[in-house]
Amino acid sequence: QAKAAGRNGFCFFDAQMNADTHERLGLELDLRQALAREEFVLHYQPIVDIRSGRLLATEALIRWQHPQLGMIAPDRFIGVAERSGLIVEIGEWVLNEACRQMMLWQAAGLPRMVVSVNLSAVQFRRSNLEVMVRAALNRYGLNPACLELELTESILLQDSEAFIDMLYRLKALGVKLSIDDFGTGYSNLSYLQRFRVDKLKIDQSFVRRLQDNAQDQAIVTAIIQMAKSLKLLTTAEGIEDEAVRQLLAELGCDQGQGYLFARPMAAEYFADFARSTVSASSPLSGLQAPR
Ligand code: C2E
Ligand code: MG
Ligand code: MG
Ligand code: MG
Repeated sequence: QAKAAGRNGFCFFDAQMNADTHERLGLELDLRQALAREEFVLHYQPIVDIRSGRLLATEALIRWQHPQLGMIAPDRFIGVAERSGLIVEIGEWVLNEACRQMMLWQAAGLPRMVVSVNLSAVQFRRSNLEVMVRAALNRYGLNPACLELELTESILLQDSEAFIDMLYRLKALGVKLSIDDFGTGYSNLSYLQRFRVDKLKIDQSFVRRLQDNAQDQAIVTAIIQMAKSLKLLTTAEGIEDEAVRQLLAELGCDQGQGYLFARPMAAEYFADFARSTVSASSPLSGLQAPR
């Protein structure tokens, strides 16, 4: 009986593995088509001055507008895109689209702001990022200072000559560099200075329970202090309520991003949002995203 169960178990496991592989290969194929059929879109989430609420930047976040399944979140396909190498092409599309949108917003007279784009470690290994970034900036006539590249701590673990050289070349272009999800990785802190990063984005896992978790408060306080002594800016991610915003402001955090200010939104809504914040009389009024 045990043997039968074992055999069944094995069969099930085998079938499951096949299903997983199938699903992954299917998804890979779908992603390739999605790129060709232009099914990806970028949504934009404001990054504001944590005290005044003034709009400083916007983060471009990819979504997949699937013809049958509807809007698919990046967490469901970025991993597969990375493992298949497709992230290189997807990432190039994201960079160009974000720069194109920025050019349109500048031409439309929107307030000056920075656009930030997420990069995957794979893009460092398998593409000439510097050439790609320079081409995108030139194509849309953008000032490099308007572009920020978000790296994850895991990217900083690739301590190769070629990688460090690439970071320096990106910095030399004049773009800004930030570390995303800071505090969740294992970064060698001396890297921050060496790589001349501009900003740390404090991961939302520390921000969410900031008020009632002493440990998270200690971590966030330490990150902000360290950033200050290294002359780096800090952005807190995932701010959902006013009390947390206030606490972060008191701790000396510079910038905020989160549902309290606005959710990520389609480009056309973002333009309205940006205009409404400029004319808002009270700094934190008019900061709600359109429904
Ligand atoms: P991330 O770069 O850390 O982006 C922040 C994520 O937190 C976004 O999720 C955003 O919608 C969400 N968020 C912002 N404020 C709040 C809040 O107040 N509460 C909560 N619960 N969530 C909040 P999203 O758009 O689903 O993106 C998830 C991740 O996917 C991103 O995390 C980033 O790592 C990755 N990603 C997104 N777009 C790209 C891309 O173009 N390229 C690459 N390589 N990765 C991307
Ligand atoms: Mg990010
Ligand atoms: Mg993050
Ligand atoms: Mg993330």
